[in-house]
Amino acid sequence: MYPIRPLLFLAALFATGSSHADWHYDQQAIMGTEIHLQFWLDDDSKAGEINRAVMDEFRRIDATLSPYKENSELSRVNREAGKGKVTVSPELAEIIDKSLHYSDSTGGAFDITFATVGSLYDFRKGQKADTQTTADLLPAVNYRHIALDKHKHRLAFKNPRTKIDLGGIAKGYSVDRAVAILQSFGVHNASVSAGGDARLLGDKHGKPWLIGIRHPRDKSKNAAVIPLENTAISTSGDYERFFIDSDDHRVHHIFNPATGLPTDTDAGDEDGKQGADQDKLISVSILGPRGFDTDPLSTSVFVLGKHKGLALIEQLDGFEAIVIDADHRMFFSSGLQQ
Ligand code: ADP
Ligand code: MG
Repeated sequence: MYPIRPLLFLAALFATGSSHADWHYDQQAIMGTEIHLQFWLDDDSKAGEINRAVMDEFRRIDATLSPYKENSELSRVNREAGKGKVTVSPELAEIIDKSLHYSDSTGGAFDITFATVGSLYDFRKGQKADTQTTADLLPAVNYRHIALDKHKHRLAFKNPRTKIDLGGIAKGYSVDRAVAILQSFGVHNASVSAGGDARLLGDKHGKPWLIGIRHPRDKSKNAAVIPLENTAISTSGDYERFFIDSDDHRVHHIFNPATGLPTDTDAGDEDGKQGADQDKLISVSILGPRGFDTDPLSTSVFVLGKHKGLALIEQLDGFEAIVIDADHRMFFSSGLQQ
């Protein structure tokens, strides 16, 4: 009989309805990435419900926006919007509208129609679009082909071959949604991340959150660890989804819409005599209030390069940048330099 005593003791504790303050953690694979959730509760009786509500939201957004799910709203739009007007959900209209805003303000560096060619790439299989196909499709890569009526939620692509993908903005949007759900349950301290997009609610109960920026060429290292609270941080890199092709070029998932190709992030000559192009970036982190902005901005600055990218962040209130160039040097926007 002896071994069951501790169990009885635990049961007695639960029976009194005792609750206590604690951190809660969860990690799940959704949206093709790892979702990490950590939140503090003074009374943990609702921990399970809160945890489920947050993860269900990531699954809902994935089911709506995934380009890999045939019955997602995004896939339907890609099948139909090139043939004429389609009605979309207010949520999809809002995300496309935000994307178009960033296309306008980045001179087209952020462009969800990159997918017209981007969808032909498979980084796990080492597959890319050939030169001829890229040239043929390039005229269909242009955000100006997207005709959106954001009030009536109607959308059409003016070029029948145009396709869109929201991989550069959806994760930032979803961490904001997760934080809104946590707040609706009265949570004040939390960290939520979806791959390279994180949002921090409050602090880590009296201490700042410590957020690591990965070393872009050494998985085991951080390039920097920064103390943060109440902010969003999004990182774009050429090291998460990539392969090295037969010409020794890194083929990765961030496209320059002007060329229809992944941006060139290759280092200088192996002998080290010649450094890489001074403007090439291999990692970009953007800090700001919301993931819905920091996510598209990190992709944008990556495409724009160091000079134009940092200039863009300098002119936006409330945003900062930490970038790493192809020679592994780190640069900060002026608000982080002290
Ligand atoms: P991660 O997906 O690792 O968080 P990013 O936020 O930089 O990194 O998003 C990269 C994704 O953005 C790509 O996988 C692709 O879906 C999409 N994308 C790539 N190039 C562009 C671009 N020029 N404009 C908009 N979205 C892009
Ligand atoms: Mg991004």
